[in-house]
Amino acid sequence: MTFEFNEDDPLHIETLAIRTGQLRTEHGSHSEPIFTTSSFVFDSAAQAAARFGGKEPGFIYSRFSNPTVSAFEQKLAAMEGAERCVATASGMAAILSTVMALLQSGDEVVCSRGVFGTTNVLFEKYLKKFGVVTRFVALTDLEQWKAAITPKTKLLFLETPSNPLSEIADLRALSALAKASNALLVVDNCFCTPALQRPLEWGADIVIHSATKFLDGQGRCIGGAVCSSNALMEEVYGFLRSAGPTLSPFNAWVFLKGLETLSLRMQAHSANALRLADWLEQHPAVEKVFYAGLPSHPQHLLAREQQDAFGGVVSFRVKGGREEAWRVIDNTKLLSITANLGDTKSTITHPATTTHGRLSDADKASAGITENLIRVAVGLEHINDLKRDLARGLNLISA
Ligand SMILES: *Cc1c(COP(=O)(O)O)cnc(C)c1O
Repeated sequence: MTFEFNEDDPLHIETLAIRTGQLRTEHGSHSEPIFTTSSFVFDSAAQAAARFGGKEPGFIYSRFSNPTVSAFEQKLAAMEGAERCVATASGMAAILSTVMALLQSGDEVVCSRGVFGTTNVLFEKYLKKFGVVTRFVALTDLEQWKAAITPKTKLLFLETPSNPLSEIADLRALSALAKASNALLVVDNCFCTPALQRPLEWGADIVIHSATKFLDGQGRCIGGAVCSSNALMEEVYGFLRSAGPTLSPFNAWVFLKGLETLSLRMQAHSANALRLADWLEQHPAVEKVFYAGLPSHPQHLLAREQQDAFGGVVSFRVKGGREEAWRVIDNTKLLSITANLGDTKSTITHPATTTHGRLSDADKASAGITENLIRVAVGLEHINDLKRDLARGLNLISA
């Protein structure tokens, strides 16, 4: 069941998250059911032929599509303001499906430096094998983007805010550049989610998600999604259907439920993160805090314009080096030492030796991944408990 859009008075994102893509069985179940079936039955040979031939809409086989997965896709598409969403088995499968569907040998990609580590590996190691060249540029330096684009450039790829330093891309300027260059702007919207930022409204062509993070929100399942126009999604769907990195109905159901509370959770993550960032900025053991919600952040105004809030990820440098950073991490009792993010549970990581450990020293230096950097993905615990947990290690350094 999908709600009709009234262009003049569209439903708000909180409502779309709850009311789009509703799915009921003949029993009238109010919560969406999970369709654990690999295939679907036809009434007749003629119907089977019509379904396979694309002449009649409907389900055929769960590698192609499944009602629970479709419900998730409809919700997310509505929230991103996209014509269509295709769900995938992981965030990486979303990126892979997009590039496999849209690129061919000889094409080029321009990608912001400091994207998710595995995205880097996918472009640099695997796409390269198929003759696709990727050039890496500084996210916030428009001149570098311009200089890296050639007539062969087909995709511009970025994350905003960036991980872990919370840099903000100017989506309006970059989408104008993409259009002028006949390239597509692809935005990985994992950190903000559509609850805080809708890149298509700023002119991006494709939005990528790792549903594993905030869309799930409680660290349970791996999944991903691509959102875009019908024409582009038909290509991505074609690859997915042939190659098979499809989302499972159970995971789709978890994400479907996650989306219903996404706006509330993102506001709460953001409020906690802003309080934590403010407090860290005052702490004598902290050298610098990276969070776009702070007025001291160089792109605070751009973030205010593009985003409805600043998200749940805060990074900071402690005074000292690896030893001091590890001391703060090892003195936490509440925060989980894990690289995942987007969970109700706050997590803490040392990027230089974990998520960004594969980078060369030179690449770490240019990406600002110093040994004294710590990343906290702020969850939904009480802010005072989070401060107290971090204060234990920080106070040892400033003592
Ligand atoms: C986690 C993550 C991915 C990859 O998603 P998986 O679901 O782990 O495959 C891609 N981009 C960003 C920004 C991420 O944080």
